[in-house]
Amino acid sequence: MLWNRRDFAKLGAIGLAARYTPIISAQTPAKKTGYAVVGLGRIASHFMPGARMTTNSQITGLVSGHPDKAQRLAAEYGIAKESIYNYENFDEIAKNPAIDAVYVALPNSMHAEYTIRAAKAGKHVLCEKPMATNVADAEAMIAACKAANVKLMIAYRCHYEPTHLKAVKIIRDGLLGNVQSIQSSFGFNIAPGEWRINKKLAGGGPLFDVGIYSLNACRYLTGEEPEHISAYASVIDHDGRFNDVEENVSWTMRFPSGVVASCNTTYGAQMDGFFRVYGSKGWLDVNPAFNYDGLRLTGNFSGTKIDEPSTAKDPSHFQAQAEHFSHCLQNGLEPKSPGEEGLRDMRHITEIYRSAGIKI
Ligand code: NAD
Repeated sequence: MLWNRRDFAKLGAIGLAARYTPIISAQTPAKKTGYAVVGLGRIASHFMPGARMTTNSQITGLVSGHPDKAQRLAAEYGIAKESIYNYENFDEIAKNPAIDAVYVALPNSMHAEYTIRAAKAGKHVLCEKPMATNVADAEAMIAACKAANVKLMIAYRCHYEPTHLKAVKIIRDGLLGNVQSIQSSFGFNIAPGEWRINKKLAGGGPLFDVGIYSLNACRYLTGEEPEHISAYASVIDHDGRFNDVEENVSWTMRFPSGVVASCNTTYGAQMDGFFRVYGSKGWLDVNPAFNYDGLRLTGNFSGTKIDEPSTAKDPSHFQAQAEHFSHCLQNGLEPKSPGEEGLRDMRHITEIYRSAGIKI
């Protein structure tokens, strides 16, 4: 059977309305979900205040190789001394009833180990993106969480962010007409010495780190999985930063409906994180799209011009994400961005690298 675009639009309307509508708990629960944060780096410093702003989540444990930092944060968040762990005694969280879930905020290649250890300790897992550095690890993480009967959510914060959700709704409501093409990019000029340019820790270059935002956005904007991918990768700056991973990746994805998406990512230039969608009835643009705040939706479609800057401030994305996962845990629901969503991106990333001739 051949699907036409209208069929896909209907499919999308049914599937995506469910997949990308945030669930926010209406009531304060009897007990807040307690999170142990693993890795107290940059993203943890956004997640922790975000979780604190919710009505249903709290930080109840810390896992770190730096006791001073852990003690300072424990004092700030009212966390008991006994709930501070290091990477060696991490598995003892199994005995701590204050910890319901673990937030994995470590370098990419460590996500699999700590997700699996958390699952074996009987704790639910909220894992940062990218889920893992290869498909086998992503599959093992899903299997471990299923075996332990705990839930796994990948921290795709944009799935819970109102501007992204509005862009998806505009498309699903048909206001853009038939979507024809999407452009998206995200990149930055990386400093030397970052773990992000160490392949063993990062898995690869900017695609794993920031290009994944464009890949993921093209999938939720279309509501489809790419059926054909072609890609190029390159190193331009031979200054020692890119001995291990690529500097640039550009890729094109063709989706079953015929939509073609063109994406770029880099560690060699400051590159706007944005997407622009062109349809038969106009265009819409979110720029910036992937920052923690200051998002702006503009467009000209179906005879209407829009310009809607978001007034939400960081850490609202992290608040919404924690609120969603805790709500799912408290009500026996599946999160909107489960492990399987991370696995789909891992499979597409693998295909992008295969097409670009890079072994990961
Ligand atoms: P970071 O370097 O700031 O923090 C990493 C933490 O891991 C540090 O506390 C560090 O001490 C600890 N760590 C433990 N073992 C380590 C090792 N062997 N090498 C290096 N660090 C080690 O990194 P980050 O920016 O917080 O990124 C952490 C994860 O969060 C990554 O997977 C990244 O992709 C993801 N991330 C997500 C977002 C988002 O918006 N969702 C943004 C940034 C980063």
